[in-house]
Amino acid sequence: MGILCVTVDLDEIRCYHNIHGLKSPVEKDSANAVYRRAIPRIAEFMEDLGIRGTFFVVGNDLIENPEAGAVLKKLAVSGHEIANHTMSHPYELTLMGEQEQSAEISGCADVIERFTGVRPRGFRAPGYNVHLGLLDKVSEQGYAYDSSVFPCPTYLAAKTVAIGAKGMLGLESRSIIGDPRVLMAPTRPYRLGREGIWTTGNGLCELPISVVTPARLPFIGTSLTMMGKPAATLLARVARRMGFVNLELHGIDFLDAKGDGLGYLAKHQPDLKISLSKKTATLRKVVKTMLDSGAQAMTLHEAAGKVFI
Ligand SMILES: [Zn+2]
Repeated sequence: MGILCVTVDLDEIRCYHNIHGLKSPVEKDSANAVYRRAIPRIAEFMEDLGIRGTFFVVGNDLIENPEAGAVLKKLAVSGHEIANHTMSHPYELTLMGEQEQSAEISGCADVIERFTGVRPRGFRAPGYNVHLGLLDKVSEQGYAYDSSVFPCPTYLAAKTVAIGAKGMLGLESRSIIGDPRVLMAPTRPYRLGREGIWTTGNGLCELPISVVTPARLPFIGTSLTMMGKPAATLLARVARRMGFVNLELHGIDFLDAKGDGLGYLAKHQPDLKISLSKKTATLRKVVKTMLDSGAQAMTLHEAAGKVFI
């Protein structure tokens, strides 16, 4: 086993309203649940395991939530990497105009720098939707790596069905399906080629989100917590044979319906029905399984420095 990167997308609750096409505003108590409740839990989770992670931040959360800047600064001071997840988390980022795309990237970087003093070196697009034009902009803005590619057939199929079903119900999911050729992308780190994000060449470093087994099953927090500890442990045993693992979590993996007042969201986001203690135990076992077999935990930026010499 080689490198383990635990990465966390800090999508706030309003992002889940958008993706599920909910018209209702976010309830006041749960509006900042990711920054207020989930991040301290994740920081403790990582401290217990003795690891540092990479946190992907939505810039607007730092502007709209007066507590968020201090929470983020604390993470940065503890040695975690703070990376760019765009300014407003637009699922249709790849369909936007070129200037708007650039502004989504630079706006988020400016806010992160303002609150932490450090300019981010890594980028992840919302909803895993990227194309070469967007990543050219990421590259032009001096980033060391991108980590948006998720070559997972199960995920793409589920997303396609969900978007179609929402359309039939008259709900408007803000998500888009993206280019299915991403499924041909390598599952290990690679440099981007010029024929598509799935091709290799001499371009920007790509650190894909991990999939495991020849069926390319998703190795991400939501899937692992949904399958439960025994099955997740089996997948972790497969993953520990890989030279590089990018385990993608979300802030919401550390929240639950009952304890965090998110019952209304659980019918759209079934992972919220699983208790926080169960989810945390599953994720702890997954990370421990890999650490116990000698995996070296590090941030994505550190991994990029080791993998691409
Ligand atoms: Zn996101």
